[in-house]
Amino acid sequence: MNKLFAVIGLGRFGMSITEELNRMGYEVLAMDTDEDKVNIAVDLATHAVRADAMDEQVLKSLGIRNFDVVIVAIGQNIQANILTSIMLKEMGVKTVGAKAQNHLHGKVLEKVGVDIIVYPERDMGVKMARSLVSQNIMELIDLSPDYSIIEFAAPASFSGRSILELDVRRQMGVNILAIKRPGGIIMSPGAEQMINERDILVVVGRNDQLRLLGRLP
Ligand code: ADP
Repeated sequence: MNKLFAVIGLGRFGMSITEELNRMGYEVLAMDTDEDKVNIAVDLATHAVRADAMDEQVLKSLGIRNFDVVIVAIGQNIQANILTSIMLKEMGVKTVGAKAQNHLHGKVLEKVGVDIIVYPERDMGVKMARSLVSQNIMELIDLSPDYSIIEFAAPASFSGRSILELDVRRQMGVNILAIKRPGGIIMSPGAEQMINERDILVVVGRNDQLRLLGRLP
């Protein structure tokens, strides 16, 4: 709980990271060169400063190397994004995360030693394409190239039947990890657990099996 975070660049991406970390109760230092952005962040971050991340002295005086995680959320200015990432790694920040604009940019960040590289537009595109194909799938976590965890609305054909009756594991090759319903969440449901009409199922399994499941009526 005492992890220290810093977010550099308060565009839509950086601002939403700042807001979410703050909502979860973490300390966040937010930084941007744009005063308007800093003024908005004052209410969302523990500290909001107007500064240029490419100025090494500024980073040093803020004691940036003492932060556990620093996120470089500078978007359009790829040069600033890369230079800031290099400086942070050279100063010894343990975990640096950065937003990449494209594949080549991502490659450079990888070489620089950035620990977490995200491609927000690309990732959202992939997510959207998947949800268009399998309308029932609401959330997806890749575990490996072959396995995922998905969250999807229980097909109508499941309702009023137990997990045992549906024989989910053998018939569909997946495991139900949890059932979400208006009253709360049922973790690791037993075989006798009944599935209701509006249940959301969280399941783990092979991607090919999950794809079939997402198309069930
Ligand atoms: P998004 O697509 O997430 O909205 P933008 O590229 O539009 O991202 O925004 C990035 C933010 O980063 C802007 O608010 C910009 O002022 C800020 N920024 C750009 N360069 C620097 C820098 N050298 N130091 C600090 N903040 C920066």
